[in-house]
Amino acid sequence: MTFATLGLIEPLLRALETLGYQTPTPVQAQAIPAVLAGRDLMAAAQTGTGKTAGFALPLLQLLTMEGPKVAANSARALILCPTRELAEQVHASVAEYAQHLPLTTYAVYGGVSINPQMMKLRKGVDILVATPGRLIDLFRQNALKLNQLQTLVLDEADRMLDLGFSEELANIYRMLPKKRQTLLFSATFSDEIRQLAGQMLNDPLSIEVSPRNVAANTVKQWVVPVDKKRKPELFVHLMRKGRWKQVLVFAKTRNGVDALVDKLQGLGINADGIHGDKPQATRQRALDRFKSSDVQILVATDVAARGLDIEDLPLVVNFDLPIVAEDYIHRIGRTGRAGNTGEAISLVCADEVNMLSAIEMLTRQTLTRKMEPDFEPEHRVPDTDASGQVVKKPKKPKKPKTSGGGGGKRNLGKWVDSGDVAPAEPSIKPVRKVPVFNTGPRKKK
Ligand code: AMP
Repeated sequence: MTFATLGLIEPLLRALETLGYQTPTPVQAQAIPAVLAGRDLMAAAQTGTGKTAGFALPLLQLLTMEGPKVAANSARALILCPTRELAEQVHASVAEYAQHLPLTTYAVYGGVSINPQMMKLRKGVDILVATPGRLIDLFRQNALKLNQLQTLVLDEADRMLDLGFSEELANIYRMLPKKRQTLLFSATFSDEIRQLAGQMLNDPLSIEVSPRNVAANTVKQWVVPVDKKRKPELFVHLMRKGRWKQVLVFAKTRNGVDALVDKLQGLGINADGIHGDKPQATRQRALDRFKSSDVQILVATDVAARGLDIEDLPLVVNFDLPIVAEDYIHRIGRTGRAGNTGEAISLVCADEVNMLSAIEMLTRQTLTRKMEPDFEPEHRVPDTDASGQVVKKPKKPKKPKTSGGGGGKRNLGKWVDSGDVAPAEPSIKPVRKVPVFNTGPRKKK
C-alpha cells in the first residue's frame, strides 16, 4: 500500500516524499480513508504509531478541497493537545505536511504571553493547535471564534483527562458548532474516555492499533532490582559500563529530576532536566540541545516529556517507575521508533513492586530481571508476574518440634516442599489514576 492509493493529493505526496515516508503505518492506512470520507474517528493509538500524520494528512486535504476561506479571528480546524510540548510537536509535523499547501497553521499554549497569539489570530488560521486552557482564554477574550470550525481533533485524550482538563473540555464542547467532524485519539480507553467520546463523536469508526512497542518487541525491556538509595550510583555505573551516549531518563518528581541532574553534573556528566516548574523556553532549549546531542542525558518527568519525538533514540531509562502504568508504555515508546530497535531499562526498588506489577499486567508480560553484581538489593523486590499479583516468597516450613532426643531421622508426617507453595498476597490492584469527566478542580501541573 502507498500513500497515493489512499487517495492523498499530490502536494501532500510530495511533502511525504521529502520526509522519507514510504509506506503508511497501520493507523494511517485505517484513518486516512475514513477521515477523507468525513467519518468521526475513535482511535486507540499512542505516540510512535504515526497517528499525527494519520489525522493531519486527510485533515489538510479536506481543508484544501472544501470549505470557505478562513475568516478573521477564526480557525477551520482545531487540534487539542494535553501539553505545550505535544502542541509544538504536532504543529511542527502539520506544518511539514502542509508545506506545499496554501493553508496557515499556528500553535497556542499557556506559559507564554497571550498578546502575540492574539495578534496572530487576527487574520484567522486554517489549523490551530492548542492546549485547552489557553484556547479557552483566547475564546473568552474574543480573540478566537469557533463558528467556522469544520474539524476537531482530540489528541491524547486520556492524557488530557489525566491532567485534569475535563472541565476545560466540557467548556470547549459548549463552544463548538454542532455540525463538525471529530477525531479522538487516545492510548487507552477508560470509561471516562468512552463517556467523552459518546458526547463528542457522531457514529464514530473505531480504530485500534496494538501498542506497537509492546507487541512488536522492537524495544528490549528489562528491570534491574536495586535499593532506592543506591539508584543514582547504579545509574552512573550502568552508564559507564554500557557507554551510553544519548539517554532519556524518567524520574517521578520534579525534585527527583533536579537531584539526579545535580548529581550527574557534579560528576562532570553532560546532563540537563525538564519538568513543569521550568519556563517553557528553558524546557525547549534543553530539548533542542538533547536532540542535537549537545546534552547526553536528559532527565524528565512524564508531563514534560510528552510530545518529545527524537529520531533513533537508543535508550530510555526509568530511574523511577511511573505511578500510572500507561505512562510506562508512553515512556518506552520514545525508543524503538520507526522500525529501529531500542532498549528500556527500569531501576526498580522494593517500594515500587506494585507499580511493576501493574505495568506487567498492562503489557501482559513479565519483565526480565537482571541483577547487577555489587548492587543486589538488601530489600528484595518481591516476585511479580503478568497476572497482576505480587508473589511473596514462601517461608521455609518450621521444623516440627521433636519430643525427646534420639538423634536420627524420624518420619513425622508429611512435609511440605517449599517449592510447591506460592501463597499470593490478596490480589493487589494496579495503581491507576481515575480521571473524572466534567467534575472536580483542575490538578496543578
Ligand atoms: P507519531 O506517532 O505521530 O508521534 O509519529 C512517530 C514518528 O514516526 C514521527 O517521527 C513521524 O515523523 C514518523 N512517521 C510517521 N508516519 C511515518 C511513515 N509512514 N513512515 C515513516 N515514518 C513515519
